[in-house]
Amino acid sequence: MSNKVIITAALTGAVTPKEKNPNVPLTPEEIAEDAYKCWKAGAAVVHIHMRDDKGMGTMDADRFEKTAALIKEKCDVVVNMTTSGDHRASDDERMIHIDRLQPEMASFDAGSFNWMPAGVFMNSPQFLDKLGRLMTEKDVKPEIEVFDSGMMDIANYYVSQGVLKGPLHFQFVLGVLGGMAGTVKNLVYLADKLPEGSTWSAFGVGKDHLPIMMATIGMGGHVRVGLEDNIYYSRGRLASNPELVERAARLIREANKEPATSAEAREILGLKGMN
Ligand code: ZN
Repeated sequence: MSNKVIITAALTGAVTPKEKNPNVPLTPEEIAEDAYKCWKAGAAVVHIHMRDDKGMGTMDADRFEKTAALIKEKCDVVVNMTTSGDHRASDDERMIHIDRLQPEMASFDAGSFNWMPAGVFMNSPQFLDKLGRLMTEKDVKPEIEVFDSGMMDIANYYVSQGVLKGPLHFQFVLGVLGGMAGTVKNLVYLADKLPEGSTWSAFGVGKDHLPIMMATIGMGGHVRVGLEDNIYYSRGRLASNPELVERAARLIREANKEPATSAEAREILGLKGMN
């Protein structure tokens, strides 16, 4: 299993409109179709956000439910739901879908910071405590999103308090202005801080996407690609989700490794399985 690399496809995010890239999936049907295509191309996990009828990020639990059901009809890909899909949502609104749908995985953003220039990305200790307890209770595996190194210590703190259950799965998010820059040096620094037994993945945003992915594959981490993080395939050429997954799978094979299947990802991450 040590040569298996989990590809997560972050299909849509909460922000990017179709005017910036017409390939961004917005409706439950479009998101499910892209999830299926990405799974066929080698993604073991899809990280999903929902959009409302105007294309804005929403935490609407009905939409999450519908989309997850459509995906499940098509394939066994692991569904990872965001808990940060709408900056206007209250703390409680950010976890209704987790309580109701109990997905296999969900994001856990382990701290707050100035997401420049948009605003404060708010994840208060009270929110994280409540979300962590809910995820542990419902056996939802947290994807610990780390934008800065102190956030790893916050996640470890919640393990020590019994709020989260280890070993944790970390997702290093590099290249957001306000978080850590997307450099290989920063990636190495974070990987050196990993607690024993944890699993990890990383991605760079925008132009940092390729160097961070290549370094991550070399360092033995898992990777995340997709239009949430990066809308270009190369300079000036817009990407689609499946082709970003195809490229990641190709690079993984060139490195003498293999993209993990969804079943293998469940084993590596210790997931409860589809419900
Ligand atoms: Zn996300």
